[in-house]
Amino acid sequence: MMRAEIIAIGTELLLGQIVNTNAQFLSEQLAALGIPVYYHSVVGDNPERLKKQIEISAERSSLLIFTGGLGPTKDDLTKETLAEFVNRKLVLDEAAMNSITQFFSERNVTMTENNKRQAIVLEGSHVLHNETGLAPGMAFQEDETLYMLLPGPPKELRPMFIHFGIPYLSTFLPEKKVVHSKVMRFCGIGESALETELLDLIDQQTSPTIAPLAKDGEVTLRLTSYAKSVSEAEQEMEELVAEIQSRVGPFLYGWNEESLEQVAVNKLQVKGYTVAFAESCTGGLLSSFITRAEGASKVFQGSVVCYSNEIKNRQLNVPQIVLDKEGAVSEKTASIMAQEIRKLYHSDVGISITGVAGPTTQEDKPIGLVFVGFALPDRTFVKELRLGGQRDSIQIRAAKQALYTLIR
Ligand code: ATP
Ligand code: MG
Repeated sequence: MMRAEIIAIGTELLLGQIVNTNAQFLSEQLAALGIPVYYHSVVGDNPERLKKQIEISAERSSLLIFTGGLGPTKDDLTKETLAEFVNRKLVLDEAAMNSITQFFSERNVTMTENNKRQAIVLEGSHVLHNETGLAPGMAFQEDETLYMLLPGPPKELRPMFIHFGIPYLSTFLPEKKVVHSKVMRFCGIGESALETELLDLIDQQTSPTIAPLAKDGEVTLRLTSYAKSVSEAEQEMEELVAEIQSRVGPFLYGWNEESLEQVAVNKLQVKGYTVAFAESCTGGLLSSFITRAEGASKVFQGSVVCYSNEIKNRQLNVPQIVLDKEGAVSEKTASIMAQEIRKLYHSDVGISITGVAGPTTQEDKPIGLVFVGFALPDRTFVKELRLGGQRDSIQIRAAKQALYTLIR
């Protein structure tokens, strides 16, 4: 039988600056898998003491899960120390290197030598992808002992363990569990608001587990059930889904890999509606989103990127007096833009987006203030949004909100 030990690494833990919630999370997860945990250890960022700890743990436990110390800084020593202990080389993982390079080029930030260290893994290990950060995790077997290395930040450790750690461990379990997972996709609600609604469920989770992930203006919940049989897995999944729906159902737009734009296109197709967009601060992003969906050509007519006031006035007939008095970023402008694009492109629905994406304010209006206009066959309405974050994330979220409102 597997005997697990969780080894948390970090002087911050010993100083009481942070609480070892990783050990708590992993213990719960391991309990759900039926793997007994015999020890929790905590050791500072010190190679000698870490080495001693590994010797002790490898002696008494058969599954060693390390958390922390995979980052790019000097005090991150987990890989080096363990590599020495198991006598394995450290090698560059191409896939991890590619995602790190991509991360930096997307953000236009120069990568340092240190960041490259994050793509180094122990030779022959199974690499665990990091969906929410840079440093990959890893797992391997050596002399009948399993080793798993996970990053310190809980936001990285949790999804990594659930999506990649558990499938790896389950191949070593005598009684195979049925692992059944499902993703619920939400829009129009922030991660913390969603978590607040589900706090008790998240706190008590065993099986199915609930892993929230926020990305690009959407929040997903990955539910994973570890059950003895398919029917048991399906039943517990159904119960949890029903409970979640009863609380935050109105924000649920899709399942698993379904995208917001695909759901929007499908809905328009069913209704037999066409759409056209007038985009200011999103610069065509909404159009780009919708054209990613299959069948977009059946519902999407086209759009005007009316970035300047001159184009808003000349192409979309927003009166100069409205632009002067109320501003380009206003309910009135959004509503005229939506109605005019609907007329101009002969579509059933016209959608407009005008707002302040930052980094500077505009017309004395705050960064993140966005108006999304909807001109429908029978009425026009405007949604006022207050979005936080950087320029690109404001743009993404404004476009997503437009799609989300479309499917409501
Ligand atoms: P990074 O790339 O962020 O440096 P890392 O894998 O090197 O990640 P650490 O440097 O050890 O991890 O820790 C980074 C942060 O993760 C800590 O400041 C703390 O906020 C959190 N963290 C680390 N270990 C734990 C733990 N055992 N429980 C909860 N949070 C932790
Ligand atoms: Mg670190």
